[in-house]
Amino acid sequence: MTIHERYRLSVVINAKGTYTPLGVSRSSDGVAEAVAQALPEFFVMDELGDRASEAIAQVTGAQAGAVVHCTAAGITLAVAATMTGGDPRRTAALPDATDMHNRVVLPACQVIDYGHTNLQGIRLAGAQVDLAGDEDGCTIAELEDELDGPDVACLMLVASRLTRGEPIDLVAAVRAAHRRGVPAIVDAAAQFPRIADLLASGADLVLVSGQKYLGSPTAGLVAGSWPLVQALRAQEKGIGRVMKPTKEAIVGVLAALEEWQAFDRVKWEADELAKVDAFVAAASRIPDVTAEAVQDPTGLQVSRVLLKVADAKRLATELEAGTPSIYVMTDRMAEGELMLELIPLDDEEIATILARLWAVLT
Ligand SMILES: *Cc1c(COP(=O)(O)O)cnc(C)c1O
Repeated sequence: MTIHERYRLSVVINAKGTYTPLGVSRSSDGVAEAVAQALPEFFVMDELGDRASEAIAQVTGAQAGAVVHCTAAGITLAVAATMTGGDPRRTAALPDATDMHNRVVLPACQVIDYGHTNLQGIRLAGAQVDLAGDEDGCTIAELEDELDGPDVACLMLVASRLTRGEPIDLVAAVRAAHRRGVPAIVDAAAQFPRIADLLASGADLVLVSGQKYLGSPTAGLVAGSWPLVQALRAQEKGIGRVMKPTKEAIVGVLAALEEWQAFDRVKWEADELAKVDAFVAAASRIPDVTAEAVQDPTGLQVSRVLLKVADAKRLATELEAGTPSIYVMTDRMAEGELMLELIPLDDEEIATILARLWAVLT
């Protein structure tokens, strides 16, 4: 009996990317085995935290690292770290931020919703958000205006395909914060493969989700400067209590990081591109369908399949309604476009998607 049969759960083919409501990603057998080995054991949790810090530092080039429950938790705890500096009295007082710098500057075009908005993720620490620029963009001068205000705790930046407007020059934004003695935090939840590049911007902390492109159990990875990572880990005795990582998640992250380092990236990227190209060729044979391969807009070495059809909404609805349910990216559905991410899918699942496209569209 499969796990889906045992608990009466829908079987899903996930072509929607690293999407939280569908279980995000598939872990490898090696990661699953490490998690299974961890579950029946006891550990000194601080030691696990130290090993995770060393492993994150080694893989990313950062001074230190930490694992927290997820990236949403990482946002709250990174803000708390800048507000408290890890001071025990202040850490215990949050979210009461009396006598602390608690203003967080965030570009208005980087207010995003990944299930809740990052505004709430920031405010959970007891911080207030000052938005810079507007929905269509934020210049460095506009950022500087907000950074010049009183009581600024940190600058929060988001590296994601969910942001709007012109991309912000990360290096210039981080410099603007540092000129005022303010730390810069980058939320890059779906950008694990680019974490070293993002740290090279000079950011003090970079946050990524383990369960997205690293394929670990649900976990937020934090990489950055030694003092700020220690201040973040200190939140475990404060608001971080409700955002703590499990032992199995930390062991799963350690195993996933080991696999990542052993892994042939160049071959993987070529294989994934071949998968996308083969799908595009096959989908282009369906009458009235235009298919093309498109590169991730944020610099991730990932290609996706773009399908253009007359009635994208009807197609997406019918794909989801079938058995198994097929989920695709629907951000630009109103424009007649559906996007598919094939990374976690095997040949059989890809064949099922193509067969269903034929059945629905012809
Ligand atoms: C997914 C995502 C998050 C939330 O990550 P979790 O690990 O699910 O908490 C935050 N920010 C961005 C940009 C995301 O893509």
